[in-house]
Amino acid sequence: MFWVLIFSLLGFSISAAYHGINLLNWTLGMALVLAGFTAFTSVSTLAIILLSVIFAAIAVPLNVKSLRRQWLSEPFLVMYRKMLPTLSDTEQVALDAGTVGWEGELFTGNPDWDSLLDQQWPELTEAEQAFLDGPVEELCQMLNPWEISHELADLPPEVWAFLKEKRFFGMIIPVEYGGLGFSALAHRAVLQKISSVCAVTGSTVAVPNSLGPAELLVHYGTDEQKDYYLPRLAKGKEIPCFGLTGPTAGSDATSIPDTGIICKQEHKGEQVLGIRLNFDKRYITLAPVATIVGLAFKLYDPDGLIGDKKDLGISVALVPSDTPGLEIGTRHFPLNVPFHNGPIRGKDVFVPLDALVGGAEMAGHGWRMLIELLSVGRAITLPSCSAGGAKLCALATGAYSRIRKQFNLPIGRFEGVEEVMSRLAGYTYAISALSRMTATAVDLGEKPAVPSAIAKYHSTEMARQVINDAMDIHGGKGIIMGPRNYLGRGYQGMPIWITVEGANILTRSMMIFGQGAIRCHPYVLKEMEAARMEDEVKGLEEFDHHLFRHIGYSISNAVRSMVLGLSFARFAAVPTDRKTARYYRKLTRYSAALAFASDVAMLSLGGKLKHKERISARLGDVLSQLYICSAMLKRYEIQGRPAADQPILAWAFHDAIYKIQTALGSVVDNFPSRAVRILLGSFIFPFGRHERQPGDRLGHKVSQLMMSPSDTRNRLTDGIFISADAGNPVGLLEKALPRVIATEPLERRLHKAEIAGELEAGDLQNQLRKAVTLSIITAEEAKELAAVREMVAEIIAVDDFESDYLRMAASGKTQAVADQAA
Ligand SMILES: Cc1cc2nc3c(=O)[nH]c(=O)nc-3n(C[C@H](O)[C@H](O)[C@H](O)COP(=O)(O)OP(=O)(O)OC[C@H]3O[C@@H](n4cnc5c(N)ncnc54)[C@H](O)[C@@H]3O)c2cc1C
Repeated sequence: MFWVLIFSLLGFSISAAYHGINLLNWTLGMALVLAGFTAFTSVSTLAIILLSVIFAAIAVPLNVKSLRRQWLSEPFLVMYRKMLPTLSDTEQVALDAGTVGWEGELFTGNPDWDSLLDQQWPELTEAEQAFLDGPVEELCQMLNPWEISHELADLPPEVWAFLKEKRFFGMIIPVEYGGLGFSALAHRAVLQKISSVCAVTGSTVAVPNSLGPAELLVHYGTDEQKDYYLPRLAKGKEIPCFGLTGPTAGSDATSIPDTGIICKQEHKGEQVLGIRLNFDKRYITLAPVATIVGLAFKLYDPDGLIGDKKDLGISVALVPSDTPGLEIGTRHFPLNVPFHNGPIRGKDVFVPLDALVGGAEMAGHGWRMLIELLSVGRAITLPSCSAGGAKLCALATGAYSRIRKQFNLPIGRFEGVEEVMSRLAGYTYAISALSRMTATAVDLGEKPAVPSAIAKYHSTEMARQVINDAMDIHGGKGIIMGPRNYLGRGYQGMPIWITVEGANILTRSMMIFGQGAIRCHPYVLKEMEAARMEDEVKGLEEFDHHLFRHIGYSISNAVRSMVLGLSFARFAAVPTDRKTARYYRKLTRYSAALAFASDVAMLSLGGKLKHKERISARLGDVLSQLYICSAMLKRYEIQGRPAADQPILAWAFHDAIYKIQTALGSVVDNFPSRAVRILLGSFIFPFGRHERQPGDRLGHKVSQLMMSPSDTRNRLTDGIFISADAGNPVGLLEKALPRVIATEPLERRLHKAEIAGELEAGDLQNQLRKAVTLSIITAEEAKELAAVREMVAEIIAVDDFESDYLRMAASGKTQAVADQAA
């Protein structure tokens, strides 16, 4: 009976931890179990007394707050303060900026899936849809990507004029200032569509609508600044750019050496209080054509002209590009995707004080402004462009692999190609869901600091894999540049998207988990704030409060991790249908594992975790994949659980879960302390690592889905630009695909006849004529076959040029040659 009692106490404690029962209820429950055994069983009095003493020794100090604080919290607080990472002002700003949404739920170890499924999912308004169906379609029709990227290295004047007239540069500017006042969702949809046609145009539209003068003015500008600049920016009368990066300050943007000194100087005939700027910026998008430069610099007030503070910190000013001393206009050449990008230098450039965004009041608040707004831009721009590019690759590659034949079979029928195509489709599904979810978060009022870093990193990394896969499947067709090539420029430009808006290695290693662990964790930030409180008594009180909730949370997650691992999460309570319930269970299991591993990492490494980038990056991978899976499941539910899409969802889901296992496994295997390695390993993977990569049969189903027209394929690739008109090679692929499929049985008949020696390979017309004569096919069928083969010939064709044309391109004179030729 003694052992029954021991197991009952243990069982109750495990169950209480699993369900996250609080300390008081656990204490009462344990007391009840002890009392019950005393009253109704024959356990010896000695054993009961012994267990009661042990229980009291644990429960009393934990429940009596004054004892707990004195004996436990206070000594721990002293230690904690020593372990606490020192945060620079800029790191503190980054932590304070933004809000916590679904990612916080993933960090709890027990996500409330109903709240995800109940979350609103706004759609485009009628006006937004009309803009997409009207001006955006019209713009895409106007674009000739080869002419833009190769011959002009610029948009043609009529495209610039159209962009300005239709207010493409004012999507985020409110309607009252003459902008379009679009939602994040509409902004995403516009960028997605344009990027599926032309990266140069996509970048040109993206930048004024991302972090830059318009965004800064909308949020922080003075009324005068808004009234003057916003209508001009909306109509494209001003072209903006934003200059932060310089030769010595790239990823470490807070180290900019550029200065602004507050001084008095003559300006337009008067002595004016203003700022003398000296700076050297590079890589600035739209700088060569900009009329107004948003400039970040460090502001100093050595003579105390606006207050006591001499070193005011990073500030942002709007500097007209014709200001004396400003050097602007030359161009960098980013990887053959020639959107306007170039350096800006300034020597003793003087601007009045009211050039500061937000006026003198916002002097020194530049970094906060940038960080707050960056999370919004990052949630939309690159994820939308990645989605547009990936969808185009998926659509075109699926069709091409059915149309292109080698060894007498469509290349998509070969298992090697299938393997690559299934990844391409799965990643496209994931990117699309991820970018939709982060844009939705913005529309729901979030400033999604952590999801925007997840979206930036993972959408561009997956898009990089997608374009590589598409290139591999297209073979030489993807390599030979020219108007017929719809992949090459995207492939060339990919490293740009990896590098901008927070280079990817840095984003993965420092931002996702580095910020996520502190921001999303239910207690860490609160403990840190308590530990830093000046009022020691209040600080201890707060610290104690959060610490003991934190300990309960950690124990709960350790137990949940182990129990869910042992049971393969079979009994975790999850919503939804039979097919996806097991997906939610797996996510619940790994959410508990992430929460537990994060706590162990933070507790054992303390401030050193900041420098353990590999651990931080891998834990960030787990958080990211949990977020991506949530986005995919939400999308699947919203679309009405289409059964036909199941294989793609399943492929993308199993791939993500396998990545979670790999990342957690690498954390366990590489943790510096052996004891921690054993602890983590046994709690997270009690039966070892059993997740598998998506299987071959699943991959086969997915690649089949990509190779013929269907609702699933349409849903996967919706929102990109396809035109049936000549000059749109992907449109031609789509037009040809159903006809190619319809004529496949005829091709098989011809092939059989060839093998039987009835027909000879060679001249197509002769072969068809003979096939009709021999009644292998009808005359009607021969006509259709001839037409389809002509289309296929055009599809597989690549471009070739006169040497002069290419030589001229290298020297930038192609347009002249083209004009001459015309
Ligand atoms: C085409 C293009 C357009 C751009 N447009 C603009 C613009 O409009 N305005 C603007 O201000 N800037 C712009 N940028 C700048 C861009 O934001 C920077 O290139 C980017 O911040 C990285 O800086 P860097 O290129 O100097 O690389 P570096 O900072 O030198 O980084 C090199 C590598 O080191 C890694 N790294 C650095 N620190 C760490 C760390 N602590 N942990 C792990 N890895 C680290 C980075 O991830 C990167 O892989 C643009 C850049 C390009 C190429």
